Amino acid sequence: MATKSSIGIDVKPPEKPCEDDKCAWHGRLPVRGRVFEGVVRSTKPRNTAIVGWDYHRFITKYERYERKKSRVTAYNPPCMHAKEGDNVVIAECRPLSKTKTFVVVQRKGAEAETVKARKGKKRS
Ligand SMILES: [Zn+2]
Repeated sequence: MATKSSIGIDVKPPEKPCEDDKCAWHGRLPVRGRVFEGVVRSTKPRNTAIVGWDYHRFITKYERYERKKSRVTAYNPPCMHAKEGDNVVIAECRPLSKTKTFVVVQRKGAEAETVKARKGKKRS
């Protein structure tokens, strides 16, 4: 199927097409709702990317920020082929499985240093 010119959000289309029906660009999977940017933490489950990102939440009582982490599972279509450490943009879509309601819509490449550093620490 041909690449759509737009999927309704401000992201770049992938270079190569794919045949996946559950692809936001080449299949019949509409995206709507929330859009996040994060780092791929794991790609062990088939066609799946576990995407995480850190953020700060302000606690009024202590007038300080709390460091928080988010982690969601997203569908990883063949045309994205996101690997561990990649920066990706994910968009909300219909539930694809019990836990997957997001799909990778753009791969920004560029490995994130933070993930690598954390992994190194674990091993030693
Ligand atoms: Zn595709």
